[in-house]
Amino acid sequence: MSNTKVLGIIGGGQLGIMLCQAAKNLDIKTVIYCDDEDSPAQNYSENFICGKYDDETKIKEFTSQVDVVTFEFENIPVPTLKKIQQIKPVYPDPNVNFIIQHRSKEKNFINQLGIKTVDYKNIYSCKDIENIEKLLPGILKTTTLGYDGKGQYIISNLQDFEKIDFKNEFILEKKINLQKEISIIITRYQNGNSVIYDPIENIHKDQILDTSKIPSNIDDKIANQCKKYAIKLAHELNYIGTMCVEYFIDESNELFVNEIAPRVHNSGHLTINAYNVSQFESHVRSVCNLEAVEPVMKSAAIMKNIIGDDIFDYKNREFKSNEYFFDYLKKKTKPKRKMGHIITLED
Ligand code: ADP
Ligand code: MG
Repeated sequence: MSNTKVLGIIGGGQLGIMLCQAAKNLDIKTVIYCDDEDSPAQNYSENFICGKYDDETKIKEFTSQVDVVTFEFENIPVPTLKKIQQIKPVYPDPNVNFIIQHRSKEKNFINQLGIKTVDYKNIYSCKDIENIEKLLPGILKTTTLGYDGKGQYIISNLQDFEKIDFKNEFILEKKINLQKEISIIITRYQNGNSVIYDPIENIHKDQILDTSKIPSNIDDKIANQCKKYAIKLAHELNYIGTMCVEYFIDESNELFVNEIAPRVHNSGHLTINAYNVSQFESHVRSVCNLEAVEPVMKSAAIMKNIIGDDIFDYKNREFKSNEYFFDYLKKKTKPKRKMGHIITLED
C-alpha cells in the first residue's frame, strides 16, 4: 500500500483538474502549483500555490506540503524539478523532461532505439538551410515550448525562410500525407510493469486535436507495433506514470512516432467514461505506488474538444444519457484555447 497522502501537481489546467478528481477518488489529497492565478485546477485541489516555475521559495513551500510530486505539462524547468527531487520523489523522473522538452533530442532518442520518426534536420541558424530540398514541403518547428501547433511554420520553398526569426532553434520536418494519426496511452508502474490502453484514432484541425475515437480503425499489425513501441519507449525512459505516444501512419501504411507526451494526454480523456480505470487514475496509482488496475474498454467512444467561443453553444444545452460534457470553467475564452470536451459513448 502507498504512504502517499498528499500528491503535488505542477501545472493547473484541465489535465490537473482530472488528476485531482482521480486522486480524490483514491483518498489522496492534492496541492496544485501553477504560475496562473486563474488556474482552473485550483477549484479541485485541497491547496493551491501560485508562483513562477523558478521561484525557489514558493517551490520549497509546495514541496514541504506534499509526499510525491508529478506534473501535468512537460515544460517545467528541469533544474526546478531536480531541486524538488532532492527533497521529495518526482515522477516521472526529470531526466525524461530533459529529453522530451527538446524536439531534436527527443527524435534522436527515438531513432536510436530503431524506431522511425519523419525525416528531419536541425535548423539552428540560417547557415543550416543547405541541401534541405528533399524535406520540402516541410514544417519548421521550434525545438522547445511548442504545443497545439504553436511555433510551427509551413515551408513550401526557400523564400518561406525569409520570414523566420532565427533567434529560435528549429527542426525542419518533412510534411507527410497522413492517412491516420494514432495515440497510445501507457502507464508504467514503479515495479517496472506497464498497463496499456487500446490505440486511439485522432483527428487534428489547424494542428489542434479535434476528435479522438476508440476503437481505432487500424489493422492488428500496426496496432501491435504501436503498443510494442510504447512499451519500449516507456521502458527505455525508465518512465513512472502515464505517458502518451503520438503516431503518424502515412499513405503507404508506414508507421512513425510523432512525439511523446510525458504526462496524461488530451486524446485519453475518453478513458474516463469508456474504461474501468481512466488514464488519470492509472497515473495517480503509479506515482503513488498503489496497485495496478488492468484497463478494460467498456464501450466505444468519441471525444470532441470544445475550442474557444464554441463553449457557449454547450453551456446551456441538454445532453443525452450517453453524452458527457466537461466544462473546464476557464475564466477567459481565447481562440484556439481548449475550453471543454464532450464524450459520447456508443454501443
Ligand atoms: P505539437 O507539439 O504542437 O502537438 P505536433 O508535432 O504534434 O506538435 O504537430 C501537431 C499536428 O500537426 C500533428 O498532430 C499533425 O496533425 C500535424 N503535423 C505535424 N507534423 C507533421 C508532419 N511532419 N507531416 C504532416 N502533418 C504534421
Ligand atoms: Mg502533438
